[in-house]
Amino acid sequence: MQQQPLLISGLIEHVAMNHGRVNIVSHLSETHVNRSTWGDVRTRSKRLANALETLAVQPGQRIATLAWNTHRHLELYFGVSGMGAVLHTVNPRLFAEQIVYIINHAADEYVFFDVSFADQLVAIADELPLVKGFVALCDRSELPQLALPNLLCYEDLLAAASPDYLWPELDENTASSLCYTSGTTGNPKGVLYSHRSTVLQAWAACTVDGLGLSARDSVLLVAPMFHVNAWGVPYASAMCGAKLVMPGHDVSGPRLFAHLRDEGCTFSLGVPTVWLGFFNYVESNLAVLDLTNIRLARVVVGGSAAPRAIVEKFHQLFGTFVIHSWGMTETSPVALVCNLLPAHEGLPLDKRIDIQTKQGRAIFGVEIDIFSPDGLRLPHDGTTVGEMKVRGPWVASAYFGDAPGSATDEQAWFSTGDVALIDSEGFVQITDRTKDVIKSGGEWISSIDLENAAVGHPKVSEAAVIGLAHSKWQERPLLLVVTKPGESLTRDEILSFLSERVARWWLPDDVVFVDALPHTATGKLLKTKLREQFREHRLPTEV
Ligand code: AMP
Repeated sequence: MQQQPLLISGLIEHVAMNHGRVNIVSHLSETHVNRSTWGDVRTRSKRLANALETLAVQPGQRIATLAWNTHRHLELYFGVSGMGAVLHTVNPRLFAEQIVYIINHAADEYVFFDVSFADQLVAIADELPLVKGFVALCDRSELPQLALPNLLCYEDLLAAASPDYLWPELDENTASSLCYTSGTTGNPKGVLYSHRSTVLQAWAACTVDGLGLSARDSVLLVAPMFHVNAWGVPYASAMCGAKLVMPGHDVSGPRLFAHLRDEGCTFSLGVPTVWLGFFNYVESNLAVLDLTNIRLARVVVGGSAAPRAIVEKFHQLFGTFVIHSWGMTETSPVALVCNLLPAHEGLPLDKRIDIQTKQGRAIFGVEIDIFSPDGLRLPHDGTTVGEMKVRGPWVASAYFGDAPGSATDEQAWFSTGDVALIDSEGFVQITDRTKDVIKSGGEWISSIDLENAAVGHPKVSEAAVIGLAHSKWQERPLLLVVTKPGESLTRDEILSFLSERVARWWLPDDVVFVDALPHTATGKLLKTKLREQFREHRLPTEV
């Protein structure tokens, strides 16, 4: 067989040749929409590659982005990696010190930024000695006066560059992009993806039992492009020629609803928090919204466990099938996908939703298993829980800058830090993070299950469960609840709601109503902060 490297430039060439007229809709602001095509993305990413060469960017060097989901960010995905440099997508929601740390750690040459991040960058520019220049993602008329050294304008760079460019024939194991994990403790750690891992992951996403993406889809790209490459969907969309709708900075309920309706979106993806906001909007405007205009067939929910209420609401209001998926920065990210099997056909709805709230089964390419603390494989009996490990061609073997293989054990297993059970059909259910599981009287209580049950209450907007030290039981759960605007709820009401849904001994020992819950830069509950905040809270069950 021929030896053809799997390259990101191959994706953009393919889509431009075969789906060149398919639309890329990019919302730059509430009033400014840019409409282009996959053909334009190829032309402009070639201009970008020439512009980077003019700036003396060398293969392997890192180019940072601080940017929303827009057509320009998409051009960077293909132009930077295609010419052999490495695209480093910086999460703008990180603290300033973390952004300084990762830009310096990655030794980024240039930072391409959306103008809305200009103040953030000006404040830290002095601490970025390795950055040679800053490129504003706008045209000349939108370029503000900024105290940034070597400030350049993206549209000027592109206008001055030729659209003719021959992509280099790279080795497929060449690095293509870099993303740092925002752990809750310590410095962020970089995961360096390769052209090969990226293309393989995109292929898996396009399979019917993967995310099932196809040329017939119009994709609302809600997951941010600065977090694990928007779950690989920009590459997968190029592979199959799907239309892309990019919401820019505004992912509020009204805007998402409008995009779904106006662009005929059939597919979307995002974390549960975004969808909770979406349903808050839809449910409080049911009298005025016409839901029959929404054609959304599938929505991928991941990043945190998909609460049952989200799966139910998508089905009830729009007939949308929720594809629950699990992954992490270190797994590119898609590794587990929850699609149904023939055996599930004809199941009553609530039983089907029981399955959809699991994280799903391994897609071909990745291997998943659960292990005891002393490293033994545990049975797939649907009840035994253990730490989940993963290995495969799009799973990290080391963090950026560390020795090869240093993030895995001798059998190449990567420890996820997630606790899970696996049933006899291979469906995995994540029950907790190893650090968050509540150890009560020698048994484990799943904080995720409790949170999901609480979010099922119609008056609850968000919930978190943490374990507090307990003199008799070692730890007992404390439930923190944010109610929906204008709603009031009592401790007894929520506890009696939960008592019909979880085992008696799982019931939280106390409930505290809060105005808001803290989140990480990727939208997950920040439980380290909650544990710190409620360390002194005295549970009523303490004697
Ligand atoms: P990150 O690297 O920031 O994407 O975070 C990865 C972590 O998010 C995983 O290790 C899980 O703890 C969590 N996660 C991702 N997807 C899911 C899911 N579907 N259900 C539960 N937890 C998830």
